[in-house]
Amino acid sequence: MPDQFHHSPHPNWQHRALCRGTDTDMFFSPEGERGNVRARRERAAKQICQDCPVLADCRAYALTATESYGIWGGMSETERARHTRRTRRPARPRECGVSTDPLTWRIRTPRA
Ligand code: SF4
Repeated sequence: MPDQFHHSPHPNWQHRALCRGTDTDMFFSPEGERGNVRARRERAAKQICQDCPVLADCRAYALTATESYGIWGGMSETERARHTRRTRRPARPRECGVSTDPLTWRIRTPRA
């Protein structure tokens, strides 16, 4: 298992990991891996995750630590990135420099 687990809010969950002691190659993509080979490897890793008693902790850790590579908590890096994009709080108008005053919007918005 990778050594980044110490960032977890529940540092002992990794001791109950089903993948502990298994070949980590199944969980991380080798250089240049693509297509069906990658899909098969990821499916096999996710199958292990499905029965893992600490799936939720592992997934929370990977999402919080923004793990860039590998299968963690049954999610691939692509799935974690998608999840993060979907759940990210949208910027409030004031944070992105747009006025929150509706009157200003009318003044600045050209009419069609
Ligand atoms: S959820 Fe998967 S990657 Fe995470 S500890 Fe369990 S088996 Fe390992």
